[in-house]
Amino acid sequence: MSRASSPGPKGVWSLAMHGGAGADPSIDYSKAEAHMKDLLARGAALLGEGASAVDVVAAMVRELEDCGLHVAGRGAHPDQDGRYLLDAAIMDGETRAAGAVCALEGVRNPIDAAMRVMTETKHVLLAGEGAAAFARAQGLALIEDPSRHYTPAPAVLERLGEPTHGTVGAVALDIDGSLAAATSTGGLLNKTPGRIGDTPIIGAGTWADERVAVSCTGIGEYFMRCATAADVSARIRYGRQGLDQASARAIDDVGFLGGEGGLIAIDVLGRVAVKYNSQGMKRAYATSLGESVVETFAARGQARS
Ligand code: ASP
Repeated sequence: MSRASSPGPKGVWSLAMHGGAGADPSIDYSKAEAHMKDLLARGAALLGEGASAVDVVAAMVRELEDCGLHVAGRGAHPDQDGRYLLDAAIMDGETRAAGAVCALEGVRNPIDAAMRVMTETKHVLLAGEGAAAFARAQGLALIEDPSRHYTPAPAVLERLGEPTHGTVGAVALDIDGSLAAATSTGGLLNKTPGRIGDTPIIGAGTWADERVAVSCTGIGEYFMRCATAADVSARIRYGRQGLDQASARAIDDVGFLGGEGGLIAIDVLGRVAVKYNSQGMKRAYATSLGESVVETFAARGQARS
């Protein structure tokens, strides 16, 4: 499919990102919010200059991985065996090309590995040793000493006894009308060795097609059981629901099963939806209409508002 055939309006762009739905009101997220504000401005500038949605979401997630302020990339926490096994996925709505990695060890930016799976292989998901060998063969930056590289946030370490989690993600619409989504995570804290969540599962934690791009965060098992990210698109496509309703109902479905978390979504008209049923969700979004929002707890983000 050529970019010229994209159904979206030309010249309109939107960008949204999240830093996980495990936010706790007793914790100060001002540093993470300040970082997101800066990142949002840079991403908005890129989209305004004509960068593709898929390149921008990858760039945003790479920076969110590197900042160490979320449970992804540098901020990840080890599993019960003390190993850092990370998951990531990216999807280009223009072509529905997708790439993902899971249980990836020793690679600085899991999102780069996911991008290479999408662009350099015929596969969608590579796991464990095979994913790491592929990333090495691609010449991606590696981690020599995990104990020096990873810097789990103090706010996270304070909550190790709880089912804390965190993820980063970005969705975008570019000025050519193409959508893309990317998500990266360290998964649930103290996770069972071998446990994989929704993030790298295309359709569960990450999805982009010609009508919507979605990135999820929360207790991944529920998002997998609800196929949440693809469910937003299905509700728009078959249910004729608008973006806001489709996103809210998809999170309601997670809640009905007892799950907790949230999502960010952008549709082909550039509308942004932010929905969660957790206490908070670090998020930011900007549009070519001049909207620019960075927040963690405001009530209007609630799924049932
Ligand atoms: N969804 C991620 C997982 O289950 C965790 C998160 O979003 O915080 O691995």
